[in-house]
Amino acid sequence: MSSHALSHPRFFVVELGGTWTRLSVASDVEQIVDARTQMIRTTTPQATLEWIFEQVSDQAGRPLEGIAVASFGPLNLERGIISMHSPKLAWRGFNLRQAFTERFPRALFSLTTDTQASALGEAVHGIGHDQGVIAYVTVGTGVGLGLASSQTGILSTSGHPEFGHIRVSRRMGDLFQGVCSFHGDCLEGLVSGPALAVRAGVPDATELPDSDSIWSDVCNELGSALATLTLTVAPNRIILGGGIASRPFLHEHVRNSMDRQIGVYLDGAGHPTSDTRIARPSLGVNSALIGAFAHLDRKFQSKDRTES
Ligand SMILES: [Zn+2]
Repeated sequence: MSSHALSHPRFFVVELGGTWTRLSVASDVEQIVDARTQMIRTTTPQATLEWIFEQVSDQAGRPLEGIAVASFGPLNLERGIISMHSPKLAWRGFNLRQAFTERFPRALFSLTTDTQASALGEAVHGIGHDQGVIAYVTVGTGVGLGLASSQTGILSTSGHPEFGHIRVSRRMGDLFQGVCSFHGDCLEGLVSGPALAVRAGVPDATELPDSDSIWSDVCNELGSALATLTLTVAPNRIILGGGIASRPFLHEHVRNSMDRQIGVYLDGAGHPTSDTRIARPSLGVNSALIGAFAHLDRKFQSKDRTES
C-alpha cells in the first residue's frame, strides 16, 4: 500500500502573480477556497519569499510533501529562472527553483506559469473538464495563453506559449502604435489594460465605459487572435478570462469577430461551433492555485507509481 493511500499528502500551493502573491495549504482542491488562501502584494523576491516561507513555517505538524508554484513569466521552466526581459525588474534572472528546493529539500517541487496553471485548473476541475484540449486565454494587465487537458495535463511543459505577443489583423487606418516595449502593436500591446489606457487616454482601463468606441477595435483584434489560435491548435474550448475580458458584452463581439475572420472554412470539419467554443472561466481567482495543485498532484502520483 502506498504511503498516502489513507490520506492525501499536504501540498503548499503558491501563485506568484505580477501584482499579488496568493497561497494555500491543501490536501485536496476543495480546500483551496478564498477563505483559506492568504495573499500579499508581490514586491521584491527577498520580501515576497520571506513572507511565503514564514507561512510554511507556521504549518508545523504534518509534513509538507510538495510545493507547487505558478509564476508570472516569462520564465525558463526547466531551469526555474525568471527571464532577463521580465517586466518585473527586481525578479529578472531570479532562480525560483533554487530558492524553493534549497529551502525545502525534501518536498517535491513543481513549477509552471500562472496561465498554464489556470488552464490546467479549468481542464481538471472547471468548465474544461473532459473537453479534450482547452485553451485558457487571459486578457488583463498582460495577455497570456495556457493549453491543457484533463487527460494529459499541461501541454508544452518544457516551454510556454507567448501568445500575447503574436501579430493580429488591424482596422485599416488605425494608427495606434501599441505599448509593448518589444513589439509595439502585438496583441498585448493593443488590448492589455495598460494598452487600453494609453489608447483611450484615461489613467486606467477600468474607467473606460462599455460604450467607448475603442471596444470595436479591441474585439476585432481579439477575434483575430482567437481565429489564429483555433486554426493553429483547434482547442475544443477557449476559456477567455482576465479583467479586460470580464466585461459582459465582450464575449459575444469577440465570438462574432472570430467567426467572421474564419468564415465558413471549418463548417463540417468536426470542430465545435463558436457558440460552445468560447466560454467564461468557472474557477474565479482560484484557477491558478487549483491548477498548480493539480500539476503537482500529477507529478506526485507518477512518482508514487514509479516507486511502488
Ligand atoms: Zn509584444
